[in-house]
Amino acid sequence: MTDQDNDTVEVDLELEHCSGCQGCVEMCPEVFGWDEILELPVLKASSGPRERVFQAAACCPKDCLRVAGWQRDW
Ligand code: SF4
Repeated sequence: MTDQDNDTVEVDLELEHCSGCQGCVEMCPEVFGWDEILELPVLKASSGPRERVFQAAACCPKDCLRVAGWQRDW
């Protein structure tokens, strides 16, 4: 495993409860894009920089992000 692998984490979206706040897009735009038609976030990549993907997961008010190794502490 390389240093880059250590700094990257896989992510998936479950949008059933998404409020469309775009917090994930603002937090980590290289991973999360915005579908203007559906008005929902889309994945631009299946993985991204660990720290910002974790921050995006933490800021999601609807707990839509599935991130390996991250769990909301509430
Ligand atoms: S942060 Fe969560 S609720 Fe907000 S747009 Fe992204 S997935 Fe939806």
